[in-house]
Amino acid sequence: MYIVTDGIVLKRVKVSDYDKILTLFTTKAGKISVSVKGSQNPKSKMAAGAHPFVYGEFAISKSGRLSRATSIDAKETFYHLREDLDKLTVASYFLELVNIVTVEDVVNQPLFQILLYYLSYIDKSKDIKKMPLVKVAFELQLLDTIGLKPEMHHCVNCHKLSENPKFSVADGGIVCEDCYEFYPDDYKIGSVIQKLMTYILNHSLSDILNQEIDDILVKKIDVLNQQFLKHHLERKGFKSLMHF
Ligand SMILES: [Zn+2]
Repeated sequence: MYIVTDGIVLKRVKVSDYDKILTLFTTKAGKISVSVKGSQNPKSKMAAGAHPFVYGEFAISKSGRLSRATSIDAKETFYHLREDLDKLTVASYFLELVNIVTVEDVVNQPLFQILLYYLSYIDKSKDIKKMPLVKVAFELQLLDTIGLKPEMHHCVNCHKLSENPKFSVADGGIVCEDCYEFYPDDYKIGSVIQKLMTYILNHSLSDILNQEIDDILVKKIDVLNQQFLKHHLERKGFKSLMHF
């Protein structure tokens, strides 16, 4: 079988000087591992495209267990991501997260579009101070695309609307005052965080970045998101964030 698809390189593993295995997130085949042979010539199109972050068109020959990339036409290499450590860290983390939540043969167009949009934004951005906000926004929007969107309106225990809630990581959303007692160890997030998370879940990154959002609030959402992701994705942590 032969497919031509848009894709983003999530990961590259060197097998030898000549051979690499790329993990791609594609619009037609979901996540797919492909071997790339003979891309040792740095001037070849294949070599230029066989790097993490590259967005391009991939021709893939599928036979047996491992597929092979027969051509790579890079549309965007996101070269400027690499110019700043914070930018590179956040962008690498996005690739890591997407690699964790995607599976073979399952297409997720909304997630693909979000990843592409956020990588483009980070690549062009000169405003490093915004990276923590960009990070938490991506996390929440990614959760939405994989059916793990935190419930921010109705109590996860009694389904009542709630405006001064706690947040239950395990149950995936807010808890109303009447149900506080059943969640003794969970944080009270209050209405400001509740509204902010709701806003982020329902707006584009450019809208979000136009808001004046206090760093302390971003930090609080960051802590919540990390707990949420670790719990629901069953991870102890994320490799790319070790030094962030
Ligand atoms: Zn309740």
